Order: sequence, then structure tokens, then C-alpha cells
Amino acid sequence: MTRPVAKPAEILRDLVAIPSVSSLSNVPVVNYALKFFQGWNVDRYPYTDPAGTAKVNIIASMPRQPAELALVCHTDTVPFEPDWAEAVDPQVRSGRLFGRGSCDVKGFLACVLAAISRVDPKALAKPIAVALTADEEIGCIGAKFLAKKRALRARYTIVGEPTGLGPVRAGKGYALAEIVVHGKEAHSAFPKRGRSAISDAARIVLRMDRVARKLAARRNREFEPPYTTLNAGLIRGGTAKNIVPGECRITVEWRPIPGQDPAWPAELIREELRQLAARDDGFHAELEVKRLDPPFEPSASRELSGLLESLTGRPASTVSFGTEAPHLGGRAETVVFGPSDMTVAHKSGEYVPIADLEKCVAYLESAIRHFCG
Ligand SMILES: [Zn+2]
Repeated sequence: MTRPVAKPAEILRDLVAIPSVSSLSNVPVVNYALKFFQGWNVDRYPYTDPAGTAKVNIIASMPRQPAELALVCHTDTVPFEPDWAEAVDPQVRSGRLFGRGSCDVKGFLACVLAAISRVDPKALAKPIAVALTADEEIGCIGAKFLAKKRALRARYTIVGEPTGLGPVRAGKGYALAEIVVHGKEAHSAFPKRGRSAISDAARIVLRMDRVARKLAARRNREFEPPYTTLNAGLIRGGTAKNIVPGECRITVEWRPIPGQDPAWPAELIREELRQLAARDDGFHAELEVKRLDPPFEPSASRELSGLLESLTGRPASTVSFGTEAPHLGGRAETVVFGPSDMTVAHKSGEYVPIADLEKCVAYLESAIRHFCG
């Protein structure tokens, strides 16, 4: 089989045309990518998701791990509005390629595939690896699966995400929790026979502002905003207009800054719940932490971020969104990097500038030659 043509925009068109929303199997996208890894050592890490859908992570290495440089990219995308016709029928206009995943993060994947096809991997002095993961958009599940098996080992790791082609060397973590408030149902004509879980939830929501203020007092100036943010994003409670609500649930997320225990906000919330319960026998609520992804801590080494700074002319920065970096970075110096910008991701009209794709391929090729050459 001949090596495919290495034009990133053409590769990206093919990738966008293969739907890979997290609810679908990512196997077709991975199989497409595997055409670029003829002769590489490919390790497959398949699993079945809770809906019974086949998922696969792969690590392609040349010749074998540990790698000097690893490139990491997720293969799934967020869902799209059914009326966005270009979502899986990619179109080019005004130098931009539009389609679901063009920005997050098939654009980077196209660049990785183009870059590796421009070097002769057999001629490299030091090993290289490429990791393709599943289910990043629904909680970095593929990356966590690989991390548990310590499957990726590298000295330097580039994790693809849209960073506007600026190197990112630290990021906030991500935590998700639910507060369950227990009341007592009663006919609303006789409210004293019950206890409103919604009223108790309202007290808790007001206390969340106090927690947010405590979090905002501990600053890390490398971030914007420079502290751990807290959001009560969902509230669900009650069953009918004429029933005193028996239960209410508040979904809370926080994004911990590096250098801070990501479980600290949970402690602060639990302390507020304890205080409310101490004053009122009937008050009953608990916090259940569903997800606790650590922050992406900056590395002491700056070799990779320094190289990307000099290649791109952009200073290294930080991001406030979660990535696979804290899971797959391991002991490697890890940088998050990729074309387009997160502000255009996760919405209809997502795109990547084609000029960014070409630049990204050149930067990746330079990084491969620098570390593995
Ligand atoms: Zn992404």
C-alpha cells in the first residue's frame, strides 16, 4: 500500500466526514488513521462503553516505547445540531475548513498524520509514539483507561487541543459533583406535614457563593480567572405544583488551579452542609463527588515548551479548560498545542484556518526532527 498524500486539509476533510460523536464508535476514525502507520508497532486498547459501543485507543510507536516524543490526540467529538449540514460534510470558505471536529480536534489529528508522513520514521534516531484516544469529550475516559495501564511512556508529550498554535504548559483540573437534598413530600395544602427540598436547596445555593469567595481568595496569576471557579449549573427538584418537594439535586462543577488539592472545594461545600444541618434538625443533604480530574501541573523542564515558543513566536501560556494532559502526561514534559481556538469549538460553525493546519504540520515536523532526529 502506498503512503497517503500528506495534505492536512485533505486528511481533515476525510476525518470530518467520518462521524465520531462520543456516543458512536471511534473505530472508523482510528482505522482511517492507521493507514498512516504502516510498518509501525501498533498496540490496541479496546473497550466497550456502558452503552455497548466498541471503542478503541491505540498507541503507534516506532520502533517501540518509551518514546522520546509522543503525540496524543482524541478521536471523538461533541454532538452537533441536526440542522448544521456541514457538520459531517466539510466545506472550505475564506480559507477556513468548517465541520464538526475541525477545531476540536481533528484538525490537530490531520496535522499529526501529515507530519509523520513527511518524516521517515525508520530513519529517526530516537523512538516516537502517537496515541489516539476515545471518549475525551465525555470525561477523558480513553485517556484514563490508558493511564491505568501505564500504556504511554515518553520523555516529551504534545497533547492536541485548539490553543491557537500557542504552547500551553499548565491547565485547570475538572471536578463534578451532585448535592442531593432530602425533604419530605406532603400535600401542598398542608406544608407543615412535609419539608421542602427546594427551599433547603435554595439555602445551599446561597452558601455556594461563600465557597466561591473562599476559592477566589487563593490566586494563581498564571490563569484567567486566577482562581478555582465554581458553578452550580443544574438544579432539579419536585414532582408537581401541589406537592411539597421531597428531593432536589444540584449539579456543581469546579475547575481547580494547579498547586491546589482538587478535593478542597468538596471539603468547603461539605462544611457548609454541616453548618446548615447543625442549626436545623430537619436539614439533610449530602455531596457526592462524581469526577475529580487533577489540574495539569506545569513541568519543571521547559525544553518542549521552549522549542514550541521559538518555533511559533508565542509565549507559553495556561488554559482554563480540561485536557488529557494530566492523565497521559505521566513524567513527561507535556504541552497542549494545536490549531484553531477553543472559543470556536463545541458550537455550530466550528472551523480551523487552513493556514494554521500548514503551520502546525511544520511545527510538528520540526519537533519530531528536534527530539527524535
Ligand atoms: Zn478536544
